[in-house]
Amino acid sequence: MRRLWIDGEFTNGSTGQSIQVVDPATEEVVDVVPKGGVADVDRAVAAALRAFAAWKRVPALQRADLLVETARRLRANQEDFALTLTRETGRTLRKNRGYVDWSATCFEYYAGLIRDRRGRVIPSAEPGQLNLVIKEPMGVVGCIVPFNYPLMLIVWKVAPALAAGNTVVIKPASQTPLTTLDLNRVFDHFPKGVVNIITGAGAEVGDALVMHKDVPCIAFTGSTATGQRIYRMGAERIKKLHLELGGSDAAIVCADCDLEAAVRAVAWTGFLNAGQVCTSAERVYVEQPVHGRFLELFSALTGKLVVGPGLDPKTEVTPLIGSKERDQVDARVQQARREGAEIVTGGRRPEGLPKGWFYEPTVLKEEIFGPVVPIMPFSTFDEALALANDSPYGLGATLFSTDAKKVRRYYEEIQVGNVWVNDPLVDNPAGPFGGMKMSGLGRELGEEGLEEFQQTKHVHWDIEARIKPWWYPLC
Ligand code: NAD
Repeated sequence: MRRLWIDGEFTNGSTGQSIQVVDPATEEVVDVVPKGGVADVDRAVAAALRAFAAWKRVPALQRADLLVETARRLRANQEDFALTLTRETGRTLRKNRGYVDWSATCFEYYAGLIRDRRGRVIPSAEPGQLNLVIKEPMGVVGCIVPFNYPLMLIVWKVAPALAAGNTVVIKPASQTPLTTLDLNRVFDHFPKGVVNIITGAGAEVGDALVMHKDVPCIAFTGSTATGQRIYRMGAERIKKLHLELGGSDAAIVCADCDLEAAVRAVAWTGFLNAGQVCTSAERVYVEQPVHGRFLELFSALTGKLVVGPGLDPKTEVTPLIGSKERDQVDARVQQARREGAEIVTGGRRPEGLPKGWFYEPTVLKEEIFGPVVPIMPFSTFDEALALANDSPYGLGATLFSTDAKKVRRYYEEIQVGNVWVNDPLVDNPAGPFGGMKMSGLGRELGEEGLEEFQQTKHVHWDIEARIKPWWYPLC
C-alpha cells in the first residue's frame, strides 16, 4: 500500500480511511491508498512553510541541479511510472512512456530557465537611483490535478513552482493517486518538506488546501465547475489562482487541406485517451464540398480503431476512467439519437469486452459533449469562425488549411489560448498553454508558466541618499 508523503516521511494519514484505485480496463482494484483528511493538509502545509524559509534562499543554480536530477530519475524509472499510469488511467503504455519522458523534459526546461531569470534592472527616474524589478517565490503552492493526465499536469505546476523557489503540496484526483504518490522517488533528494504529497476527497482535502491561510497560491487543473468554486473560495483571501479548466474545442476542416491527413488528425484529437483530453475535438466543422468525403473516410477509420486495454500494444482506444463517466457518455449519445441525431458509427459498448469501462469510438452528425466526435458542415470561412467562437469556453482549436490568408485570419480571430494549425494537441515546454473565457486563468509552460509562481517587487534605491527638494523643510 502506498502512503502519503509529508515532510520527507511516509504516513498513513489521519483519518484511518482509504481509497480503492481501480483499473479502468479490468475493474480490478490495483491498490488501496490512505484517504487523507484536513489534519494531513495542515501537517503538509506546515512542513512546506517551514521548508520555504530555507528553500527560497537556495541559489537558483542549485535548484536547477536538483530539477535536472528529478528529470534523470523520471527517465531512469520510465517503465515503472508508465505502467502505473496505465493501470490507474487506462491509457496506453506506449503513450505513457512518452509522457514520462515529456515530464522529464519539462523539469530540464525550467532548470535551464531559472538559471538566468531573477528580474531586471530598469532605467531610474532620477539620477543616483537604482531600480530593480525582483521576481520572488510566493510561498507554499497547492497543486490540484484531475484524473486524465496525473503526471504531466503535476509536472507543469511543480517544475516551475520549485524552480521559482516555492514549496508545494500536491493533491491528485481520487481515481488516479498512484503515480503521484510514487513521485517521492524523484523528489527525495530535495530538502525535507519542499515537496509534500497528500490524497483525499476534493471537497474535503482540496477545499482545505484552497482555504488554508498559509497557501497564497493554488494551481488547479480540472472541471470548470470546481474551478468556479475554487475561484470563489480564493477570493476570500485574494489568493493567486492559476486555473486550467474545461474546453469545447473546435476543429475547422477547409476544402483546400490534405483531407486524409485531416481525417487522421481529427480522429487522434477525438479519441486519444477515450476523448478525455481537455483539448479533445468536441466539434468538427467541415467545409461543404468535402463534408461527405470527410465523413466517409472518418467513419471508415473510426470503425477500424482497436478498442482495448492500454497494456495491449495493438490498442488504439482505451476505456473511460469510470462506469459513471461511461454511462454519462452513453446517456448523451442515446439522448442525441432520440432527438434525431444520426449516429454514423459507434454509439454503444464494444463487443468482446465484458469488463472495463469501454465505449466504441463514435461519430455523430450533430454536436454532443463527450468522447464522441460530431461532424457538421459549413459553407463560408466566416461561418466556420463564428461557429468555432460560439462557446463560453476558449481552450484550444485546430484549423486544417494550407491557405496562408485563412490561417492568418484564424489565428487573429479565434478566441482560444492554444491555436493549432494542421497539427492538433501538440505541446512545447517553451510555449504557454492555457485557456481564454471560461477555460481558465493564467498559463502553464514557457516563461509565462514560471511567472505564475513568482511575485514581483520593484526596488527604488537612492544610492547617494540625497535630500529631495520636494520633501518638507525642517522647522
Ligand atoms: P474535477 O474538477 O472533478 O477534479 C479535479 C481535481 O480537483 C481533483 O483532484 C479533485 O479531487 C479536486 N477537487 C474536487 N472538488 C474540489 C474542491 N471543492 N476544492 C478543491 N479541489 C477539488 O475534474 P476531473 O473530473 O478530475 O477532470 C476532468 C476535467 O478536467 C475536465 O473538465 C477537463 O476538461 C479538465 N481538464 C482541463 C485541462 C486544462 O489544461 N485546461 C487539462 C486536463 C483536464
